[in-house]
Amino acid sequence: IVYQENIYPGTRAELVARLREVLSDHRFQHVLGVEQAAIKLAKQNGCSVEKASIAALLHDYTKERSAEDFIAAIKTYHLDPDLLRWGNFIWHGVVGAEMVKTELHVTDEEILNAIRRHTVGAVTMTTLDKIVYVADYIEAGRSFPGVDQARKLAATNLDQAVSFETKHTIQFLMEQNKPVYPQAILTYNRWVAGKK
Ligand code: GDP
Ligand code: FE
Ligand code: FE
Ligand code: FE
Repeated sequence: IVYQENIYPGTRAELVARLREVLSDHRFQHVLGVEQAAIKLAKQNGCSVEKASIAALLHDYTKERSAEDFIAAIKTYHLDPDLLRWGNFIWHGVVGAEMVKTELHVTDEEILNAIRRHTVGAVTMTTLDKIVYVADYIEAGRSFPGVDQARKLAATNLDQAVSFETKHTIQFLMEQNKPVYPQAILTYNRWVAGKK
């Protein structure tokens, strides 16, 4: 894939080289897997392949940053102070999107939103949001009970894959008595319970 829309100010190879510098090898491989899955889903669902590639490659850009970096960024960008009560798993999406914007000069709000929403989803999700959310879950390197069913659903119905992933992620957290981020419950109400 060759970038032509000037959404990322550089080539795909330059973006990949940047990721190799900031990510461990296992996460770098994960990100490439998410990109492949996202490109396939973009073709199947009539979404921009270039946006799917960029959003997928950048979705975990800040996943390995320190808590100190995120806490400073929450203050710098005047984000909701409630975020300070959570951790990296929430920060790398919503705070990560702001870091992508300032550090990599990616200003496309569709891409930034897909990064913001990739961990817990949202009540309103664009096709690109759903693609990154689902691709993150089903990429070839993932193996967990249920991943094959998630892959089958993704191949036939993106919304059903969003529903499956949301339900199983929350179920998994609850089985371990882990805190569930309130936004994840709102996603559940919309995409699993079908609440309007
Ligand atoms: P990754 O960045 O590729 O590992 O994937 P995600 O960004 O989708 O998820 C990051 C981590 O957050 C995973 O371990 C999820 O299981 C976890 N996670 C997702 N939603 C929640 C939540 O509501 N609460 C908690 N405690 N963890 C969550
Ligand atoms: Fe992530
Ligand atoms: Fe995910
Ligand atoms: Fe990821």
